[in-house]
Amino acid sequence: MIKQWKFPGGIVLDGHKQLADISEPTLPPELTYPLLQRSDCYVEPVVKPGQRVLKGEVIANSQNPLATPVHAASSGVITAIASRLIAHPSGLSDTCIIIQTDGLDTVCPGNPCPDYQLETPAELRHKTALAGIVGLGGAAFPTAVKLKNRLPTHTLIINGAECEPYISCDVSLIQANAQQIIQGALIMQYILQAERCIIAIENTMPVAHQALLSAASEVDIQIITVPAIYPTGGEKQLIEVLTGVKIPAKALPADHGLVCQNVGTAYAVYQAICLGLPLTERIITLTGKGIKYPKNIRARIGTPIKHLVELCGGYTPDVQRLIMGGSMMGIALSTDDIAVIKATNCVLAMTSSELSVNQAAMPCIRCGDCATVCPAELLPQQLYWHSRSKQFEQCQDYQLFNCIECGCCDIVCPSQIPLVQNFRAAKGELTSKEKQAAQAILAKKRYQNQQQRRGKEEQEKLGKAEKRQAMIDKMKSAATNRKKV
Ligand code: SF4
Ligand code: SF4
Repeated sequence: MIKQWKFPGGIVLDGHKQLADISEPTLPPELTYPLLQRSDCYVEPVVKPGQRVLKGEVIANSQNPLATPVHAASSGVITAIASRLIAHPSGLSDTCIIIQTDGLDTVCPGNPCPDYQLETPAELRHKTALAGIVGLGGAAFPTAVKLKNRLPTHTLIINGAECEPYISCDVSLIQANAQQIIQGALIMQYILQAERCIIAIENTMPVAHQALLSAASEVDIQIITVPAIYPTGGEKQLIEVLTGVKIPAKALPADHGLVCQNVGTAYAVYQAICLGLPLTERIITLTGKGIKYPKNIRARIGTPIKHLVELCGGYTPDVQRLIMGGSMMGIALSTDDIAVIKATNCVLAMTSSELSVNQAAMPCIRCGDCATVCPAELLPQQLYWHSRSKQFEQCQDYQLFNCIECGCCDIVCPSQIPLVQNFRAAKGELTSKEKQAAQAILAKKRYQNQQQRRGKEEQEKLGKAEKRQAMIDKMKSAATNRKKV
């Protein structure tokens, strides 16, 4: 039993996690892959329409270290590289690669490693990059980048504390694949050369806990249960609970010798290193009262959500809202004609009985409840005031960007104020203003450089003309002198 700490704020929520078994879906007729990975991070197609691809073959890549290669999740033919709706809060369409599957599921041969300890940490890290692995907890940050030590790492934390209501993909993965998760954790510990490794799960997951204890019985990994207080599964909150270290808003856990990875990521690392398989599938929870038969599904990346919903028997008649992610931090979807991406951990179809009463927001009564539950120790009421009146500088004074959008303040607000919605909008406006300012500085610099170059060219031209004139004058005076002689 290791000592545990408590992070500020947080709330106890009804988990709505009744699911555990993992279903294997049928192969969809079409797979779709957006080229946009995260905000402003694009990959380039390395295939052409008409080209045949195998399962596991790279279809898009980028030189950007913050992008990861995309692999085909089944064999088939590239039918188009065209605009399709993508999973984005503003319902964006963007360029996607579309594969028509051939039903054969022919696999591109991989390069499995029989004993990871025979390879160097750098080689293994490179393999995780080539396998396109990202953090599967929802952030989708490239795992290879997180596994690169800037400072020595003393503790690797594997996050299985799936704290957001409804989502149960991690707990079901632990129950089904605890042994492989332990292997993936050991590989990452070896890559980081970390002194210790902890796997943390919530204390409401007894079956998963037992599975991990049995799988780790002969290795030096600590399996720890943490209280089910939302958002314990947040990276910084979990680190604080397990180590007492408070990671400052602008700092990274790595700055403090800590690295946190999700259990799904550990499983993907095991598959990439031990089996030579790139990341082409993940576990997704399909749940909510709006889904007829909720399930956890091992889905291929690129599968249309509607295909997975059909495998769950479709929607119930009273479905009201479709969300990608959980009920607290997910994004609303306008359609299910959108493909699963690496970050998709849950598809939640909610009925009106599950949605909070859609009452119009009332004035803030300054009760302070929002500040009491805020895990980032912010003053949401002040942030709301300034974001609503577009006083963005003041928003920054009140640390707007430290908000992790956990939604705790929304849940407790007696005035039903959509606080997080305001904070997201304010962040969006500030980010676009910052981008515009950066572009203006760049344009000014470009103009100044252009002017400088033109000035230099003029000077050079003038110099050449003067030299030429001096030469002509010299020649003329020499000719005059010759005539005199
Ligand atoms: S919880 Fe709502 S009403 Fe209370 S202070 Fe915060 S914003 Fe105002
Ligand atoms: S959404 Fe932001 S402001 Fe609200 S409780 Fe969470 S971190 Fe605090």
